[in-house]
Amino acid sequence: MHFSDLGLCDALQAAVAERGYDTPSPIQAQAIPAVLSGRDVMAAAQTGTGKTAGFTLPLLERLRTGTPARNNQVRALVLTPTRELAAQVAESVATYGKNLPLTSSVVFGGVKINPQMQRLRGGCDVLVATPGRLLDLYQQNAVKFDHLEVLILDEADRMLDMGFIHDIRKILSKLPPKRQNLMFSATFSPEIRALAKGLVNDPVEVDISPRNTTTELVTQWIAPVDKKRKPALLTHLIQEHSWFQVLVFSRTKHGANKLAKQLEASGIEAAAIHGNKSQNARTRALADFKSGKVRALVATDIAARGLDIEQLPQVVNVDLPNVPEDYVHRIGRTGRAGATGQAISLVSADEFQQLKDIERLTQQQLERKIVAGFEPGEPLPAARAPLPPKSKRPKKPKPASAGRNRNGQSSGSGQRAQQGSKGNPNGNGGNSGNGAKPAGNGQRRRRPQRNSRPANGNKA
Ligand code: AMP
Repeated sequence: MHFSDLGLCDALQAAVAERGYDTPSPIQAQAIPAVLSGRDVMAAAQTGTGKTAGFTLPLLERLRTGTPARNNQVRALVLTPTRELAAQVAESVATYGKNLPLTSSVVFGGVKINPQMQRLRGGCDVLVATPGRLLDLYQQNAVKFDHLEVLILDEADRMLDMGFIHDIRKILSKLPPKRQNLMFSATFSPEIRALAKGLVNDPVEVDISPRNTTTELVTQWIAPVDKKRKPALLTHLIQEHSWFQVLVFSRTKHGANKLAKQLEASGIEAAAIHGNKSQNARTRALADFKSGKVRALVATDIAARGLDIEQLPQVVNVDLPNVPEDYVHRIGRTGRAGATGQAISLVSADEFQQLKDIERLTQQQLERKIVAGFEPGEPLPAARAPLPPKSKRPKKPKPASAGRNRNGQSSGSGQRAQQGSKGNPNGNGGNSGNGAKPAGNGQRRRRPQRNSRPANGNKA
């Protein structure tokens, strides 16, 4: 199968070829025709398998033939749970759409709203957004959805969970009922699958991998160790194996800060990334990590979602996540696009339950290797074969069609601000307004065929 078999125009095929891809990945081979058919799509694919191009390419193909976006109007809306992922998706839209006369833009919280309002003024064919900031912009009449054709939820499971569902429902209530809905996610829990089904209309279901599995390209093992010795073990592993780039996960923001400081004190360049950091600091930490300036990036689960760090060789979980699905997302940061990687979890005796939950979800027993010099005083209970997968009956989904706000809530920004700090602890999609420049801002280009109006968005 080639990209030329998928019904994409020459301009898109050229952009794909320039990116260096010759064969569509399995998710792309299935999702691209499904999206082009105009039907709703629910796609589950492991992270790192080319999901973004799987929806971006057919989206651009669809939009290129329609009527360009009018002032403040948006034709396709991509919602993501984190600002970093929004910036990354917007970059893909700009890359794949570089040869097309379409505009795109990205909006998220934590940065000034005014430049975003200005960029939206002339309308925008593809808008990538985090939910909180999008609602603020809508309230200020900076964005309108009268002509919206396509809605995409990236990392759909996260978008539909407790932290975001209220904002998502508010946004849905503003959209025209007749539209195409696309939901892409690495994992779909039974509850989220049921809820998602209530939002789509007779979807084509694309399921590339067994649910909640981890990729075989990632070697996974656990190092049993006492809790208090975890920072020392991490330092030892980084130094012993001369790891040049390691993404470290910590359950708490405080823990992430502390660990980054401890690594720095041992001579390992480190930075922390989490929701209490300003957007400026988050963007800088990620850029420094990608460029190799920072050797260890210590993250809370915010970074587990969708981030694409090319050829990331090493992930270390210093704490196991409480939600087993997060383990799949965390280790999915490595082993992407066919590359191999290693994911190590430092597990103390008190985390045995989380370990069992992860082994049950992924239906595999993780190999245990005790690192010499770090033998635990309090050993992990003996390993047992994972229990069979949970087969919870999903709750019946509530219908959530457009045109209704079924929460009966006003969409006042005060309420949203509160939600941002409660339901969405990382503060993504919030709007702390620190004045930093959003990623992707510098790509503003003039739309060649529409000189009559200001080129406010990025050229897609
Ligand atoms: P994603 O799952 O969208 O985050 O993509 C994961 C990685 O795969 C990204 O680095 C993409 O650039 C890369 N990628 C996407 N499509 C292809 C393809 N057809 N062939 C090779 N690499 C790809």
